[in-house]
This record gives sequence, C-alpha cells and structure tokens, in this order.
Amino acid sequence: MKVRVGLTGNDLKSLVHDSLHVSSKDMVWVTTSGEKGVSDKQSELCPGQVLSVSVRGPQLLVTGLPQLGIAVCSRVRVAAKTGVTSICLQSLRRPVAGGVVAPCYHGELELSAVGSKVQAVAICDLEDYVRGVLGSEIPGSYKLEAIKAQAVSARTYGLYPRISHEAQGFTVCDSYLCCQYFAGITSNITLNHKQAIEETKGEILTYQGKPALALFSSCAGGHTESYENCFSDPLSGQFPPEPIAYLKGVAEGKLSSAFPQEAGLRELWRLRAPQTVDAWSPHFRWQVTLTADVLEGHMHHAVETMRQAAEFASFIVAPPSNSFGHINSFEITNRGVSGVAVAMKINTSKGQWLIRKELVIRSVFKNPEVKLERLKSARIFFDYKKDKLGLLSCVAIYGLGWGHGVGLQQTGAEGLARQGKSYKEILSHYFQGAVVQVL
Ligand SMILES: [Zn+2]
Repeated sequence: MKVRVGLTGNDLKSLVHDSLHVSSKDMVWVTTSGEKGVSDKQSELCPGQVLSVSVRGPQLLVTGLPQLGIAVCSRVRVAAKTGVTSICLQSLRRPVAGGVVAPCYHGELELSAVGSKVQAVAICDLEDYVRGVLGSEIPGSYKLEAIKAQAVSARTYGLYPRISHEAQGFTVCDSYLCCQYFAGITSNITLNHKQAIEETKGEILTYQGKPALALFSSCAGGHTESYENCFSDPLSGQFPPEPIAYLKGVAEGKLSSAFPQEAGLRELWRLRAPQTVDAWSPHFRWQVTLTADVLEGHMHHAVETMRQAAEFASFIVAPPSNSFGHINSFEITNRGVSGVAVAMKINTSKGQWLIRKELVIRSVFKNPEVKLERLKSARIFFDYKKDKLGLLSCVAIYGLGWGHGVGLQQTGAEGLARQGKSYKEILSHYFQGAVVQVL
C-alpha cells in the first residue's frame, strides 16, 4: 500500500513552495507531463545533476536537465530507474541532531503547480512511511512492545489523520504542527524500530470496524485526557467537538481523590515517587518561573498575534476595555479529566481576558526573551510573588507532562511495556474498545 505525503516548507506549515531543487545519488527517471501539445517526456537525472522546478503562470518551469531543455508542464514525477533509491529535496531543510539536512525519500516524488506555487508529494510504501515517522517519534531504546504500540498508532494516523488532506491530493502531511512528523529516510532508525515495524506490518487500530483516530503524545503526566477537552471538530471548528468513545482520559496509576482539581495536581507534582507508569520520565513534572517584566513584555503581544490568526481568534475573548493591563493572576476556570486547563482567565488591571483550549493556553505564554515557544502542557497551576505594593513581581508555573495527552502517551506505553504488557494491551489501555486489525 502507498501513502501520499504532502511535504511542507522549512516552517513546517506551508504546503506549497516557491521553487524546489531535486537530486539523487542514483540515476532516476524524470517524467514531465501536461506540456502543451507534447506527450509525456521521460529523461534521466544523473547523480550530481540538480533538477530545478518553479512556476511560470499556471504551469511548472523545469530546468537543469540538458537533454530536456526548459520544460513547461503541469506535473513532474521523479522515480527510481531500478530498485530502491533516495530522492532528495536540496532546497528543503529538516532538523537533525547537531544541525539540519536536506530531506530524502524512498519511492516517488510528484511535483505539481498549485496557484503560483509548487506542491510536493512523496509517494512511498506504507511501511517506509512508518519508518520515517518512528525514528523521530519514539527512542529506539524503548521496549519493543512500546515501540510496536507506537508503530500501529503511526501507521493508523498516517492513513487516517484528523485533518483530511484528500482535497489537496494527498493523504497526510509531514508536519507535527498538523499531522505527524515524517522525516523521510532517517538515520534514527534502530534495530528495535525495524523489528517493531516488521512485527506489526500492515496493522492498524480500529473501533467498531472503522479506522480509529490514533492520536498520541509524549508524556501525559499521570492521566491522559479526553479528546473533546483538547481538540476542535476538524470540519466545523466547533469546540468542544463531539466526544470520541475510545478517546477517553485514563488514569496512569494511583492518584489522589482531589484529582483532577488543582489540589490534586499540586499533590501529584510534589510527590517524590508518584505511583504512575509515566513518573519515570524527566518530562513528568516541570517548572517555569517568569518575572512580571518578562511576562508583561510579551504576553500581550502573543495574545494579540493569536487574535489575528484565524485558527485561534475564536478562543480568545477580550475584556470590554479591549486592552491588556498589568497582569494580576491567572485563573483556570475549567479543567479536563487529566487536570488540563480548558479555560483560563488572565486577570489584568484592564479587565479579564478569557483564553480557551489547551494549545491556545500553552501558546499565550510564548516568550522569546526566555526562549519559550509554548508551555510543555496545560496541566498547570501557579504560585505568585507580589511586591510591597501588592503588584505581581514573579509567577512560578508548575506543569505535568508534555503534549496534549490524548490517546497513546509514549512514556506511559514504555512504563506499561516495562511491566510486561504487550503492545495490544497497551493500545487497548489508551484506546478503550479499539482493536488491532490487519489492513
Ligand atoms: Zn497535515
């Protein structure tokens, strides 16, 4: 089975490009089609040659192959001449340990004109796709059964992502900001990864005979969360969306009766040895301390920027003054079953700002001065320090876990695998009522 993966730009957001430069270590076929009055043309791209593709009007402009000259066409396909090869996009950059590299892909590359830009789609074998996801998603040092649970989730999500890209001509995109991160050919793949992919080959997660929405995140910090408390409806944007039966938050061990209220989160955060399967993770608990100056220097800007963005605007409600005064405190007014903040008020001297949804709440704390992109999770509580005049001088933010916490959590899966649980048992813990099926 093949997967069509839309390739994003260096920002991991844009799904189209101004131009792209393609190369390969092996001889590959380049097929141009849709050239006016000309049938499909096939040329060879040799090692060392670079194919450049940009847009002229509604068509692609293809240069770099002496035998092809300058071609104006609607689609370019690059594919192995024989066997397996790697096709690299020289103009793209992807982060790796210690730097950045141009990504390379097995299979085929399809380039087409969309508006005045170039769209790139990698067409690869499903199991190659899972390899390109797993290397970045889960350490090879984890137990085999945990990696197998992740492999089934990644395979399912790759075929059935939350946001459909079918109208754009591909199944899934390669960005964790939208779907799940797909690195292409990666050196991060260990023997454990390979074995996990091989032993779950073709397996996906289903619920009542239909593919499940196989969400996952890094560390839930003691309790996973229910879908409707973190995500909007992908079609209507409605929040909260209809709940999903198998995406219900589950406890990861023994928790206090005060959980998921703030007192329960405080207790869990302070315990030296919490009795949960994910407490071994360094991401289980964290703390960020910000002075009022640093906080106020950036939060109004982060909130304002998000108000201008279509995907966030409806989750931010301004006070009647429509301005952001001095910050007095933060107040979580609604929490999910894991204690995740679903609604938060920012009490300022110019009125109360209401912020809804966990990713939006995490993101309003974006602060370049302390290199903070967003909080690691929204399972948070606060302590304040005030000056002699009673004004805020410092806030300590305490948090549990990393990520949204819906569906499978990787550190919990590892904890369960260490207890001897199989990947099917792990998956049925995080996706209750869902089962593993072969495609
Ligand atoms: Zn996507």
